[in-house]
Amino acid sequence: MHDRSFAGSTALAERARAVLPSGVTHDMRYSTSPLYVERAQGAHKWDVDGNEYVDYWMGHGSLLLGHLHPEVIAAVQGALTRATHPGGSHALEVEWAELVTRLVPSAERVRFTASGTEATMLAMRLARAGSGRPRILKFEGHFHGWHDYATHGVTPPFDRPTSLGVPDAIGSAITVVPTDVERVRAELARGDVGGVILEPSGASMGVIPVEAGFLAELRAACDDASALLVFDEVITGFRFAPGGVQELSGVVPDLTCLGKVLAGGLPGGAVAGRAELLDLIAFTSNAERNRFGRVPHMGTFNASPPVAAAGATTLRLLEGGEPCRVAAERGAQLRNGLGEAVARHGAPWSISGESSIFHWLPEGPGVEDHAERRKAARSGAPVYEMRAALLRRGVDFPGYEGWLSTEHTVEDIDCTIAAFDDALAELTR
Ligand code: PMP
Repeated sequence: MHDRSFAGSTALAERARAVLPSGVTHDMRYSTSPLYVERAQGAHKWDVDGNEYVDYWMGHGSLLLGHLHPEVIAAVQGALTRATHPGGSHALEVEWAELVTRLVPSAERVRFTASGTEATMLAMRLARAGSGRPRILKFEGHFHGWHDYATHGVTPPFDRPTSLGVPDAIGSAITVVPTDVERVRAELARGDVGGVILEPSGASMGVIPVEAGFLAELRAACDDASALLVFDEVITGFRFAPGGVQELSGVVPDLTCLGKVLAGGLPGGAVAGRAELLDLIAFTSNAERNRFGRVPHMGTFNASPPVAAAGATTLRLLEGGEPCRVAAERGAQLRNGLGEAVARHGAPWSISGESSIFHWLPEGPGVEDHAERRKAARSGAPVYEMRAALLRRGVDFPGYEGWLSTEHTVEDIDCTIAAFDDALAELTR
């Protein structure tokens, strides 16, 4: 298994570098071992050189039911034979929205977008509009996509911009704080904060977990200050439970950002929440209000039929919660096995994660802090070396994290742990 050829991928990567920045189409897809995938099925995928892998990208976490789930694909194919874009409303978007309102506790109304990034952008705007206040609070290391308001405080050092090209003025409308409720209360006391947004699992899919009770404390702090609470459940929604972290914690936000599993592996997102907030988008019979008192929202591909078909079918299949439970059980098995392997080799890494997500992150002197650990992981070398070593052994980890699905079998997990163990032996030699 170690003498795999990657000639086809290498040749494509060379062509790609001439036309795509770094040869890729998403920062996370950049690595020193580019892989070109030809097809995927269940928990597996095959590259252009014919090599097979157990896949832990799972569509950047959007494929809770695995690649090409037969019912999802049949629904998408059915939609595609009728219209890719009907130029109007269609029944599937209604069914999809009904499922979201049924599953997600905070969802009285839904507005679909074409991505999770668009969902957080719209939610922040609705929070400002609904509260009449200009400032949004976000937390250190919490990721909400790549628009201007989301790029603050993502990567350490958190007080320095994560991207060039973001106007300084944005900084006065978004404030980054640690997950400390007293700091939040101090900011809220200034009276200009409209909304507080967070990943309810903790920063970056739980790399920096939030303390128990923090969500409820945040809810109370927002209520006391009449600020709106926004959960970014792009990752956790329909994965941690059908109703996301808000179902598990019992803490119900005013607005919820959704994406990934919501759209069953096709491109989609949504903002859901209290009717009075979502209805800031709604038209009324009052022309004055329509022009000056609403939040306009467009988007050519919002809830297009194939996306709505994949989304509605996926949500229907996971409604009882069994798929979330199965994927989480496999996640726990994998985390246990990876943790044992790390301990066996005395490797300076830690294994963490929750539900059907795992992280492997540098550990030890200089990286005591979760944020530092994440920065060290981001800086490259061990992640890229591990990815290369695992690809040679038939496993694909996306960087320092991964997602499981209902289709990962116990055998897949065992093979992955054995490959990881063998790769560690090579890398720590
Ligand atoms: N919020 C969170 C918590 C995310 O993890 C992501 C994507 N990884 C986004 C928002 C942005 O979603 P998208 O990639 O669909 O724009």
